[in-house]
Amino acid sequence: METLRKMQVLCDYAQYDLCDYSSDIKQSDANLPGIYHATSNGCKIPIFKVLMTNKCVFDCKYCINQSKHKFTRLELEPKDITKVFLDYYQKNYVYGLFLSSGIVNSADYTMENMIEVARTLRKDYGFKDYIHLKIVPGASKESIKRVMALANRVSINFESASSDGLSQISSTKSFKKDILRRFKWIDSIKKKDKSLAPFGATTQFVIGANDESDQEVLSSLKSFYRNLSIKRSYFSAFDPVIGTEFENKEKCSSKRTAQLYHAETLINSYKFDVDELVFNDGGLLSENEDPKYLSALNMDIFPVEINSAPLHELLRVPGIGPRSASKIINIRKKMPFKSINQLKKLGVVVSRAEPFIKLKGNFQASLDVYS
Ligand code: SF4
Repeated sequence: METLRKMQVLCDYAQYDLCDYSSDIKQSDANLPGIYHATSNGCKIPIFKVLMTNKCVFDCKYCINQSKHKFTRLELEPKDITKVFLDYYQKNYVYGLFLSSGIVNSADYTMENMIEVARTLRKDYGFKDYIHLKIVPGASKESIKRVMALANRVSINFESASSDGLSQISSTKSFKKDILRRFKWIDSIKKKDKSLAPFGATTQFVIGANDESDQEVLSSLKSFYRNLSIKRSYFSAFDPVIGTEFENKEKCSSKRTAQLYHAETLINSYKFDVDELVFNDGGLLSENEDPKYLSALNMDIFPVEINSAPLHELLRVPGIGPRSASKIINIRKKMPFKSINQLKKLGVVVSRAEPFIKLKGNFQASLDVYS
């Protein structure tokens, strides 16, 4: 009974760690603790998400688990998590596990507990499906290597875009030493053996907990994507927790993080540079306009000719995504496009694309369709 109570509490606490497409992740309405529905590539995937403990030696000022927050601390044994997960999995309630933890005693002691869960599932029970393990700040290279041998995906939360940003949030965590260096290790381990953590690494930023702008976050992100093997990033909107040092700070709007997700897609999948995006004087994205549309209004390449524009120009047209852009390029090699309906059939959102394209030299619409 005591274990179930702990499990319920620590599953609730796990909501603060994001995974898969965060804006659509929600807890299952079942009475069972820890079942979350993550959406990936349009599919809803039930996963078991739990924190091993809400004890933590770090003092991240926004975090419910921070060392100075006075509340009841709980800790689960690896065997308890394994048992509940296997029960859910065998009943087809979940298809995977996402395991995170506060830091108790030391980073490696914490990692050892998480490794024990994953090791038991893989080696003792032959579990072959999805495991995502959080690497805690300060974990040793050896424990990261062992985690990567067991997990499909690993993550470390950057929380902030820079050392200065992190120092506003935490006095105990070092951006360069505890986080950046660990990501470099993930990179070097992966370079030596690509089979480890085959789904790669992800990270998370807490938006609005410090004074970093969207432009600063996205600029750091672009450089992390270029230099580290990070697959994608999640943005958590800061929400003050009573009893923490940031309890009186203003809550971050979820519109801001939604726009950061749009911008992240442009950087990660459309290969935009950060300076192609439009920010206000404070370095923030518009909360109301689509970042791609705003960026297109500021480019002098439009209208582009559908039958000859290079891939990077097609990708900058509102309403054209990576899949439709590559279909356009393949089809036009055989026969030029003549009508807007042909583009519609490929999945182009023509109402958005028309003002920005030409077909066989003809303009399709003027921008005043938006006014
Ligand atoms: S290290 Fe993680 S769990 Fe601990 S206080 Fe910071 S954000 Fe919270």
